[in-house]
Formats: sequence, structure tokens, C-alpha cells
Amino acid sequence: MMENTRERQLPVRLPPYLDELLSSWIGRHASFYAVPPLVMLRHCLPEASSLRAADLHLSSDQEIRLANMFATDPAVVHRITFANVAQSLRRLITTRPTHYCTNCSPAGAEPAPILRNQLLGWRITCPACGNQLRVAGEREFPSPFQQYGVGTRSAFPDTLSPNEA
Ligand SMILES: [Zn+2]
Repeated sequence: MMENTRERQLPVRLPPYLDELLSSWIGRHASFYAVPPLVMLRHCLPEASSLRAADLHLSSDQEIRLANMFATDPAVVHRITFANVAQSLRRLITTRPTHYCTNCSPAGAEPAPILRNQLLGWRITCPACGNQLRVAGEREFPSPFQQYGVGTRSAFPDTLSPNEA
């Protein structure tokens, strides 16, 4: 396995942004190498079904293999997945960014990296700087947190009211 993982190490590696999500990091490498993102992931993990699945769950063996591809520490790979989000909450993780932090979002990066917290729709403040997050683009549902000010936290609402649009 050692020889195999060494062969899969990328000759050019891009550093991750602070709090960048694994699939985003892989996607930026795919863009750099001009291959589809899933090809980039499967270069390392041939058994991987999707980038989303890799964000949500990796075995420790897969974390080690990805870390080898990026010549980094498995703990780094672990940190940029949703491994620290409770299993019961993972179904609430969105598939596209719902908000961004005006302080911490890397400006002008192309392709723009996706940070972990951008897919956690229940966050209203940035985990890095505490700034209130700005809504990105148009949401399918209005944020139930709009009425709350900076730094206020709320438990999950039972329902999303369509009247809050
Ligand atoms: Zn921030």
C-alpha cells in the first residue's frame, strides 16, 4: 500500500484555505489539473462514490490515503470534513453555500473555495471571527434567523414559515 499511495501523491499541491471543505479543496486541484472533481477524488480513493459522501464520511484509512495524496497530515483531512458534525445533523448540511463571511471569505480566488461553515445553514455567525454571516444568493427558503440580531443564537425552529419571505 505504501508504494501505491506514494504513486498517487500529487506533483503540485495547493494549500487549503482556512476552514475550506474537503470537496472544495479537491475541486480546486481538479480545476488546476483540468480533470473532473470526481476523477481527482478517485485518483486517491477509487472506491469513492461522490465528493459529498467524502465530505460526510471518511474511514480513517481513507483519511490517511487522502493525506498522502496531498502530502499532509490525516488530522488536516479529518478537520476539513463534516466528521465533527453529529450524525443526526448531517442530513441538514446543504449542498451549496447558503451564506458567507465578509471578513473571512477569500476575495478574488478562482475557483472560489467553499468553506465548511457555508454549508451549515443553521449558523448565523462566522466560527472564525464571530461576524454575522451574509446570505449568499437567493435561498429556496428564507432564513428563519433573519429576525435575530448579531450574536444571537436560537434553537432549531420546528417549522419554516413561508410567511417570513
Ligand atoms: Zn469570519
